[in-house]
Amino acid sequence: MNTIIRSVLLALLVVSGPSQAQDSEFNLDALVNRVVAAYGGTALTEMRNVEIVEAYIGPNLGQSWAPELLDLSKNNFRFVHDIENGRAYFESYFKARGGIFPNMIIVNGDNAWTVNLQLGRYGEANSPDPYTFGGGTMRTTDTLLARQLHNARDQAEYLGPTRWMNRPHERVKIPFPLSPDLTLFIDAQTHLVTRMTRDNPQLGALDYVFGEHVVVDGLMAATRVYFSVAGDPNLIGTGRTVRFNRDLDAALFALPDGLEPEGERIDTSEMIVNRLAGNVYHIGQNGGYSIFVDTGEAVIGCGGYPDLTGRLAKFQELIGAHKRLAYQVVTHHHNDHLGGIDEALSMGATLVTVEDTVEPIRDISQLQPESGRFLTVNGRMTLGDGNGRVELYDVSTVHSRSNLLFYVPATRTLFMADHFGSPYAEGVPAANRNTVSMAEALEPLDLNYSRIVTAHNARVYTARDFERSVQSFRDFDCPDDRPLCSR
Ligand SMILES: [Zn+2]
Repeated sequence: MNTIIRSVLLALLVVSGPSQAQDSEFNLDALVNRVVAAYGGTALTEMRNVEIVEAYIGPNLGQSWAPELLDLSKNNFRFVHDIENGRAYFESYFKARGGIFPNMIIVNGDNAWTVNLQLGRYGEANSPDPYTFGGGTMRTTDTLLARQLHNARDQAEYLGPTRWMNRPHERVKIPFPLSPDLTLFIDAQTHLVTRMTRDNPQLGALDYVFGEHVVVDGLMAATRVYFSVAGDPNLIGTGRTVRFNRDLDAALFALPDGLEPEGERIDTSEMIVNRLAGNVYHIGQNGGYSIFVDTGEAVIGCGGYPDLTGRLAKFQELIGAHKRLAYQVVTHHHNDHLGGIDEALSMGATLVTVEDTVEPIRDISQLQPESGRFLTVNGRMTLGDGNGRVELYDVSTVHSRSNLLFYVPATRTLFMADHFGSPYAEGVPAANRNTVSMAEALEPLDLNYSRIVTAHNARVYTARDFERSVQSFRDFDCPDDRPLCSR
């Protein structure tokens, strides 16, 4: 490249860098000070505690019963963060076609508990860090974003002016614990946060919109909030109450009376390997697992989620041969189960699924798979033979119109997604309507399974675990003393 062209290009690169040019003339620190003042000054910077109660309608993107129609859920949250004393309380209810899913987490000193209101049990929480369970609620609270802007002002980056809702705004990027960076949209006149965006590597742009700001306890807070994923509404706020720096009841951070302890939580921070036979393994980490079967010539896999490649490499290491992934079975159309799709396609696998799921796969894939890359199951299908034989059954449940069950007769092992499981090493997993409808769908198939492994859990369950879970099912009734549940 000749030197003149190169220096012109370099000059273009320098002037087009967005922040350096503007940082020199823009006083970011002064903007942060105005935001702090708009949100309550020292009441914000010296916040002792916060309580957020919020209710949403959730269009359940990518999680509906059938791909052609969104169905709505309700999501109610209460998060109390006692910043001053390092305590936290989180209570949530997810209400959808599978029933009501209550969740409670309490952090008090060295203790971090999760409480199962349905079964009257408590266990060790996944993490004592309030950002792991309360981070979502913090991000839907503009006041806490303003506080984070103040706390992280040394790492804040000015991204320049923009117009939003036809008003002049300033954009500032800040870090946020356990999250990609946040971009705040700050109204240039009121200095209120009216929008926040961040990028999810799988889902795309996540957008938070804040409106109807009011003064509460001397601080400013939005009363109207909604949250979108890649431009589509995902949580539509129907009511929220925020309180600051009140006297908190110590009982809130104590374990409720009369609970039975759960067994030990399985540590899934490292890769888990369950050997089901010399040629069949269940492998995964955190909340994503696959089953792999060596058919002799090749490998059949099932269970999506990112890092399919890593799990397959582990399998290849265990069987001591670099056999290719010939088939990757996709259980159903829900977007979390399409996580490893492009990895499977890149490895040359044929995707085995039902007709319903082909379109959602095309929507999520970056690779535009041709129709030859799909093998569709109509009711049932068999792949492989002998101890590499895999039987696939399409069953309809409350959870999804179509679910492919992956059955390995030689080891009497059944792999399923989303209907059954718990994070604990022992004990009967709580059943919900999905579990019961799966039991009903399994009945006529008369499969001779003795073990169940799943897409979300590390444990190998017995057929008896499943049976006892189904028998113990009862619909969750909202307790009278928990009004958030009934909203
Ligand atoms: Zn699902």
